[in-house]
Amino acid sequence: MEEQTVITGAIPAIISIELWEKVNVIMKMRANNSEKAKLRAKHVYLLSGKVFCGNDECGKLYAGESYISRGREYGYYKCSGKCGNKSVDKGLLEEVIVEQLNNLCFTNNAMKSIATRVSALYRERRSNVADEIEPIKKELSSLVVKLNNWIDLIGEGLLDRAVLAGKIKEANEKKTFLESQLLKTQIIRSNNGINEEAIIFILKKQKHLLFSSSLEERKQVVQEFVDSVYVLHKEDGGIDIKLNVRVTNGGGELTLLKHLTFQYQK
Ligand SMILES: [Zn+2]
Repeated sequence: MEEQTVITGAIPAIISIELWEKVNVIMKMRANNSEKAKLRAKHVYLLSGKVFCGNDECGKLYAGESYISRGREYGYYKCSGKCGNKSVDKGLLEEVIVEQLNNLCFTNNAMKSIATRVSALYRERRSNVADEIEPIKKELSSLVVKLNNWIDLIGEGLLDRAVLAGKIKEANEKKTFLESQLLKTQIIRSNNGINEEAIIFILKKQKHLLFSSSLEERKQVVQEFVDSVYVLHKEDGGIDIKLNVRVTNGGGELTLLKHLTFQYQK
């Protein structure tokens, strides 16, 4: 089951913009329909699970927390390792990361360069994938033969059901895995590369969501693009922030990482 999940996610979503749109619509509906989501929106931490302590000896997660003072709620990210590295203001950190994310991925130049690199990676992947199809097909057909033999043997009462039941279950799971693997390679193979315009189209949609008035939508984009943020307070009062941005083709198959270190004063 675990393997299946991974494979589903690895089928390049970029292949079908229609599908992408459908997913977006569904996610939007979910966000709108859920009263819980609305209530939670107040406490949305855009960088939830992405911020880490920049103290080499610690490296623990900076978790989102909040406190209420004089009727106002203040959010911050705090080192869960309690190493002494100070907390950072939620609003400030999120603002600065969104700004840098925008610079790295969503300016016209950045989108163009991402599109070029992703489509080059995709072409490379496509030429390699041709060699993967036949071995998968062979493995799949020998697995089917094996399965049919076992089923025949059970039918004829020649083998113990209980003993083979486990094996058959295992083989069926393997079969499902191979089938999705085959589907994935065939999709990549049959697609004439990724159109750079299509990538830019998707990036523009994501940029739109990044600056949406809905925090849930903003979080969706931040969570997809931000790989990790490392925070380190310095003695002069500034904060060193290392941002790792991850750009995928939408399905997680291809990944580009960008690193950026900068500091800001409170
Ligand atoms: Zn720490």
